Amino acid sequence: MRLVILGGPGAGKGTQAEQLCNNLSIPLLALGDILRAQIAGETDLGKLAVPYVEKGELVPDDILIRFIGRRLLLWDVFNGWVLEGYPRTAFQAEELDFLLEDLAQEIDWAIWLKVPTEVLLSRSIDRARSDDEPEILQRRLDLFEERTIPILEYYEYRHKLLTINGDQSPEQVQQDILAIIEANSH
Ligand code: AMP
Repeated sequence: MRLVILGGPGAGKGTQAEQLCNNLSIPLLALGDILRAQIAGETDLGKLAVPYVEKGELVPDDILIRFIGRRLLLWDVFNGWVLEGYPRTAFQAEELDFLLEDLAQEIDWAIWLKVPTEVLLSRSIDRARSDDEPEILQRRLDLFEERTIPILEYYEYRHKLLTINGDQSPEQVQQDILAIIEANSH
């Protein structure tokens, strides 16, 4: 199973992705976490990413597309994955499909955790990581609207989009995701 989790900052992507991985026994690739680890380790990717992550800006597409291109070739993710925080732009979504086509693989579902903007805002303020400071948070929300929302249309057109009400308890959201996947399994 290959799943993409989409949602704004504070939508619950991380929590839901982690539980899905446990429930479906597939590995997690969480791009925000990977980038933070690379930054902490001062790797080449970390050094390239740090100025963007610090400001809440998106890391340029070419850098992450190259990274994902190499990462998805590794054996541990050959039989499936949950991708969290990627794709975040329509270009990343399209390039991901090209990459998977070359590997004779495809995404099963893009799961959109739909949460009202005011709820995203209050959850993120409560979470308050260093890249969740007010101006940075606002920038992340704006980028989500501008860059990530168009991806929904991309997956909808390809009949891959599953929309979940993310404004519920984490347990209910997880149950809803598992139920909708089950109901749509071919
Ligand atoms: P996250 O924890 O998923 O909110 O990601 C933290 C930060 O990592 C974001 O604010 C971006 O700077 C960067 N980032 C994560 N995923 C992506 C992506 N797919 N494209 C560009 N930048 C990303």
